[in-house]
Parts: sequence; C-alpha cells; structure tokens
Amino acid sequence: MNTPFDWSQAYRHPTDWNQSFPPLSLPAMLAESVARKGDAPMLDFMGRRFSYAEVARGVARVARGLQQRGIGTGSRVGLFLPNVPHYVAAYYGALAAGATVVNFSPLYTVAELEAQVEDSATDTLFTVSAAALLPTALAVLDGSSLKRLVVGSVAGGLPAAKSVLYRLFRRRETAPLPDDPRVIRFSALVDNDGRADPATIDPEQDIALIQYTGGTTGTPKGAMLTHQNLTANARQVNSIDPDRDADDRILGVLPFFHVFANTAVLNRTVLNGGMIAMLPRFDAKQTLQAITRTKATALPGVPTMYQALLDHPDLAKTDFSSLRVCISGGAPMPAELRDKFVAATGASLVEGYGLTESSGVVSTNPYEGPVKAGTIGQPIPATHIRLLDKEDPTRDAPAGEPGELAVKGPQIMRGYWNRPEADKDSFTADGWLRTGDVATIDADGYIRIVDRLKDMIAVGGFKVYPSEIEHKLYQHPAVKEAIVLGVPDAYRGEVPKAFVTLEDGYEASGDALAAWLNPQLGKHERVSAVEVRESLPKTMIGKLDRKALRAEAMG
Ligand code: AMP
Repeated sequence: MNTPFDWSQAYRHPTDWNQSFPPLSLPAMLAESVARKGDAPMLDFMGRRFSYAEVARGVARVARGLQQRGIGTGSRVGLFLPNVPHYVAAYYGALAAGATVVNFSPLYTVAELEAQVEDSATDTLFTVSAAALLPTALAVLDGSSLKRLVVGSVAGGLPAAKSVLYRLFRRRETAPLPDDPRVIRFSALVDNDGRADPATIDPEQDIALIQYTGGTTGTPKGAMLTHQNLTANARQVNSIDPDRDADDRILGVLPFFHVFANTAVLNRTVLNGGMIAMLPRFDAKQTLQAITRTKATALPGVPTMYQALLDHPDLAKTDFSSLRVCISGGAPMPAELRDKFVAATGASLVEGYGLTESSGVVSTNPYEGPVKAGTIGQPIPATHIRLLDKEDPTRDAPAGEPGELAVKGPQIMRGYWNRPEADKDSFTADGWLRTGDVATIDADGYIRIVDRLKDMIAVGGFKVYPSEIEHKLYQHPAVKEAIVLGVPDAYRGEVPKAFVTLEDGYEASGDALAAWLNPQLGKHERVSAVEVRESLPKTMIGKLDRKALRAEAMG
C-alpha cells in the first residue's frame, strides 16, 4: 500500500503544525468582531466609513429581507457585484439567513452569467444599477430560472456617486429599473426591523460559498466551500502573522468575488476586527491615494498590481510609512519586481500560493524570517502537502523529483457542485486535493512551483483557459488546427499565444488572425501573437499534442 508521506513530520513550521481550528461559521465570526469592535470602522469605501455595528445592522436587515421572501437554508444567493458596500452586506446577510452564496465575476457576459446561474440553481441575484451590470443581470433574469434580482443603487447611495461609477466602469450612467415584481430595490429589501431568525448552521457541513473555477480543464465548475473551510483558512493565514493584533487597515482592491480576496481581505479582516479600505476596482492612482489617506497597513494583491503601482508617476508622492506587509498571490511573483517594490516602499512583501479549491491559501513565505525568493513558502498551519508521481498519481513522486502538489487541510473544499466525475479527478482515493501544479520541496520545506499539469494560463492574477480561445479560433474559416499556450511575459508573467495551421486553399497571416481574434476576447485573454505553422505536433492517436508544442516553444 502506498502510504502518503506526511510533510508535517519532516518539516516544522515556525508555528504549530497541528494547531486545530474549532468549527466556526462566518456569521458567528462576524458577530464576535461586532461585539468586540462595535463603533470601530469596518469599511472605508472611498472615504465613506461604515462601523462594525452599522455593517451588522445592514447584514441583519438583508438576512431578514431574504427570509421574508422565503430565502434561507437550502437557497442559493448570487452576487454579481464589484467591491461595493452592498457586497459585504449581501454576503454576510445571505449567510446569516442560512443560504449559500455564489460569487460571479462582474465582468461576465450574459452567456457566462446565465450558465453559472443555471448550473448553481441560484434563485436570487444581487447587483447594482450601473449600466455596465444591470442590463446583463436583467437579461439573465429573463433567460434563466432565476427568481428575483436585488438591485442596489451605487449612484444614489454615495456622495461621490458620479466619480464612483466612472471609476468602476469607465462609464457614468446608471440603468433604469424596470417595473417588474421580480426586481427588488436593495433599499426595499432592507426596509425591515432586522430581526432575522438565526439560521442553524453546521460549519463543517453547510456550504457557505460556491465558487466557480476552471479547475484543471477550464470547464467552469463550482467549488463547494463550507463555513469551516473559509473560517479555518482565515484563521490559518492569521495565525502566522506576528503582528496579527495590529489594528490593520487592509486595502481591498482585489475583487471580492475571487476566493483570494474573500479570504485574505474580507474574512481575515472581519476575524481581526480591522478595517477594509475598499475601492470598487483596482486602479493604481486611487490605490496609491488610498494608502496615504487611510494609512493602510496591508496590501494583498497580484503581481501585476504591484507592477502597476511601481510604474505610476504618483509613487513618489505616496506615503508608505504605514504599510507593513504586502501579500502577493495568484501568479508567480518575479524576483526583480519584488525587490524593486520592497526598495520603493519599505514594506515587506511575502509571496503565497493557493487555489479556489483550497479556500484561497495553501502556503506562504514567513512574514518575519527567511523569505526564499522564487518559492511560495511553507504550508500554513494544519496544512499537509505531498508530491504525487506525475504519471501515476496513486504513487508518491520519486524522492527528490518534482511531483504534482497535493494538499490536505481544513481549508480544502468538499468537492465540486454536482460534478462527482470531476471530484474523482481532483482528489486521490485517500482524499488529497490534486492541485495540477508541479512542485519541488527543499530541505527547509519551502515549495517551488516548477510547472503546471493543467492547461490554465496565469495572466497576472487572472486565469485564462486555452480551450476558450481555441474555440473562438476554430470559428475562423481559415483555421484548421489551433493550440493556445502560455508564453513568458516580462510584465504579466505569462500571456496566451496561439499556434495554428490553415485549411487547404486558405491564406491568412498571423497578424490578420490576431487582429480578428483579439477584439472578441476579454482583456486578459488576448493573444500576444498568432503563429501560422505548416503542422502542429500530434500524439500517437493523432490528437493535437499541447505538451509537445509547449516543450518545443519553451525551448
Ligand atoms: P485560482 O483557483 O483561480 O485561484 O487559481 C489557482 C492557481 O493559480 C494555482 O493552482 C496555481 O496554478 C496558480 N497560482 C496561485 N498562486 C501562485 C503563485 N504564487 N505562484 C505560481 N502560481 C500560482
């Protein structure tokens, strides 16, 4: 029998490996901080502050408003929102009502949103009245089994409404609300006494979040994260921070709908009773201003954000004296960028690693103590790792050789929503999550990601899947075969590049194909080039061989 090698026996983390995290629900975690912090600020939304007590009142009213409409345990409530205060109220409010939250990217098209709303059987969706979001949400309300839409008014609720909208979407307009009983104003939902019936939550069984991810294949599937997965991950991350009791003011510029921000920004701040200095979306100038204005202490981000801050002319005007730590994740942090950012700001910058299926965080470099550049640090407490043989995941990788990183810990998801076959591929028979990332582990227990088995391309912190771009390419009459790969890029780490062969009798240049393709793609999906080839490598059975092309393209 193959006995998993328990790395926790081999390497000791500076903090207790076997630290346990008692079951805790997200509403209970919030309630503890509200009791402790009361009138202390919880949110700063572009200068407008909301205390813990105020947020708690909003959360209770959302919960009550949902329960009055029959939404509670067993319901799924979707959030189609940027980083606005409504997000926080709707997230904790839906959870307090006993429902499961489903996160959707505010950049989704109608087709993307509709597919995930249907897949998750979401019955209620929150959005805001911005012209960039509401029409999409209304189209989904008409085209899916969604029952109702709750619409917050970004413009009405805030003093600097126009500029907020502009910064949000580069558009100033709000969209009108139709006269439709299924469309409820946020202000009408929360027009109640806030006396919600406390939902009975089993933190270890009840799903708090369904979080869509491409996983290893690119087909979106919902990772089911329990309350305990999320509160454990917040506590795990917190426990290795030597200054965790500092009254932190954390920049909330990573999108809350992504699990990294959910854990490292939202839940972790709530756990600590700190303040989130939130911006509706990342903007280098606004972020630098917010650092000086709020005396921010921590900045979780992805490598491209740090690069954008470094490149901005306002960098020299920014007062970084309050900033104690930057936490980079989502994609590899180039060592040169790290050094430059640390030199420019004086803050420490630690790189961590994780994935949606792990509630956000698996490992990190220590906040104090030896940082090893180019590594993703050591597993956080109570997290066990193992390297699987790349060819045969039922076995461990041969000693000293790279293998597929596999993880066990309290933060690992329950499985994918309605996808038992995907669970079989993602977990070993004895319950280790397969990450699809190839790693080595050094004698001190530091992990280095050296390759990826999955097709995903990490463009900055954004995840792009070749299959979606290939699918578009095949719609061009001249394209016969297509493979899209991630190729190194100095600024974004990796960018997609397409390799194609052409149908007989057709002629098309790579530039012309790229000019046709890129306008159809999202900003991060755009290919750096299309290379037209005579042939593409094939496997023994004649399938396009991505692996072989990758080996060749990487030289
Ligand atoms: P997601 O589920 O969208 O958060 O994507 C998770 C994936 O991002 C991981 O499986 C890795 O492939 C990649 N990733 C996250 N953090 C890092 C990092 N620090 N270095 C390299 N890859 C990373």
